[in-house]
Amino acid sequence: MAEIDLAESSQSRLKSGLPPWSRAGTKPAYQPLQDNLKVDAMIIGGGITGALMGQLLAERGLSVVIVDRETPGLGSTVASTAMLQWETDRTLNELEHLYGFERAVGIYRRSAASVAGLSKLIVANGIACNLLPRQSLFLTSNQEGAGDLLREVELRRRAGLPSRLSGTLRSLHRVRT
Ligand SMILES: Cc1cc2nc3c(=O)[nH]c(=O)nc-3n(C[C@H](O)[C@H](O)[C@H](O)COP(=O)(O)OP(=O)(O)OC[C@H]3O[C@@H](n4cnc5c(N)ncnc54)[C@H](O)[C@@H]3O)c2cc1C
Repeated sequence: MAEIDLAESSQSRLKSGLPPWSRAGTKPAYQPLQDNLKVDAMIIGGGITGALMGQLLAERGLSVVIVDRETPGLGSTVASTAMLQWETDRTLNELEHLYGFERAVGIYRRSAASVAGLSKLIVANGIACNLLPRQSLFLTSNQEGAGDLLREVELRRRAGLPSRLSGTLRSLHRVRT
């Protein structure tokens, strides 16, 4: 296994300045690990990934400890702009080309389910983070882009994922076809 340069992944390399969450947010409660501990699961890293893993395992009745070599929550988690999208960095169309329809749709459905699950978790735990559901808007300025968006919407419909076309996009595409 390749050696990992720990300094390269320090929290100060992930962000600079003061993200808004670090001013207003509640700081995670933590204490130095001073004694040996016996637990069912130890999670390394107290960012959102570790927190969600910890929450899941604790909910299943396991005793859990999360350890962090720096301050929990102050890695890339605090740097996030906090926009949660179930769309991945690749369109469904691109993923279909790479993996075929079923696998591509599986990725999108799991992503949509995880955003929905996170929203439920926030409500269930009364987390005051001002979560606001919003729709994503995709824009295009040319006919080729209109064709791409049209294909994307059709694929999403086949997959049972919510999506709709604006009238302007439909007419932009019609000009071409
Ligand atoms: C500027 C920026 C903007 C972003 N915007 C968004 C966004 O809008 N939407 C979105 O979904 N995502 C966004 N992201 C990505 C998102 O923030 C990260 O994917 C997510 O926070 C990663 O969480 P994590 O828990 O895996 O990592 P981190 O939050 O980095 O947590 C890892 C923790 O592990 C600890 N650690 C590392 N190595 C060790 C070790 N050897 N031993 C013990 N502890 C260790 C670190 O100290 C750290 O606390 C953004 C990221 C950045 C940087």
